[in-house]
Amino acid sequence: MSEAGCQFHGANVSRHTAGAWQVESFGRGVYLFRWNKGFYLSPFVVADDGVTAFDPISADAAVEYRAAIATVTNRAVTRLVYSHDHRDHIVGGTVLGADLEVCAHPTVADRVTRRGHNDIVMPNVSLGDGAVIASGATRIDVHDFGPNHSDSNLLFVLPTDQGRMLVWVDGVEPDVAPYRNLPDTDFAGYLHSLESAMRLQFDFVVGGHTGPGERRWVADYRDYILRLLEATEVAYRSSGEQAPRPGEDGVAMTERVRGDVTATAARAIRGRYGHWAGFEQWAPMTADRILSFIITGN
Ligand SMILES: [Zn+2]
Repeated sequence: MSEAGCQFHGANVSRHTAGAWQVESFGRGVYLFRWNKGFYLSPFVVADDGVTAFDPISADAAVEYRAAIATVTNRAVTRLVYSHDHRDHIVGGTVLGADLEVCAHPTVADRVTRRGHNDIVMPNVSLGDGAVIASGATRIDVHDFGPNHSDSNLLFVLPTDQGRMLVWVDGVEPDVAPYRNLPDTDFAGYLHSLESAMRLQFDFVVGGHTGPGERRWVADYRDYILRLLEATEVAYRSSGEQAPRPGEDGVAMTERVRGDVTATAARAIRGRYGHWAGFEQWAPMTADRILSFIITGN
């Protein structure tokens, strides 16, 4: 967490004695549950008519999420909101209550059904772009910019006493480089969503693992992706693209080109981004993902 990011930390931080989790208050009923065991975050909103919880994360985390919510309110959880369909964020909701309103992008139900994952509470309310989740006096604005990190990501804007909180789980994780090879990501859609998110009115951003971070992290992610795209294109063109050397078969050629191009591309942006956590490990993997985009169109 950068010093700049710390200014958004909630004023009232209660910490679980075992250090497994903490809760931060941002005012207007908006809290952030931080599950330290797995480096996951989930907001929740306390209103007169109940608690709106977001991703339950996992069966273990949901037990602690419920305990964390109970430290700030005796109201019941009445609603779950899923950020996207990925299992590492939305398993375990059954612990949070019965007969819940479970809101998600319509694709979440399709994907969960197809996979047969019965440890995920099935969504029963579809959310689309422009939807509003009204919770007492709190208003959560919902945005759908199309496929990005997954094809079911929704972005949320929540009013707090510290400004408007943008929640984009796995889309922007402040202080950390984009994750590995951007698994399950629609690359062009991700760029489009980053540009769309930059036009939203918000003051700080929270991911599903890190944050809060300054607003600029959305633009920083876009710039990072664009610079790595450009560096990967340049390295690929100057490598001669997919031209085998004498005696090289297709596998050997592919691995040589991939290895050289991704290392060269990461090196080209290291001066600007090398201080981001995960840069050294993940930038070459992200360049590898981008090279697939260059070759295949996604
Ligand atoms: Zn994800």
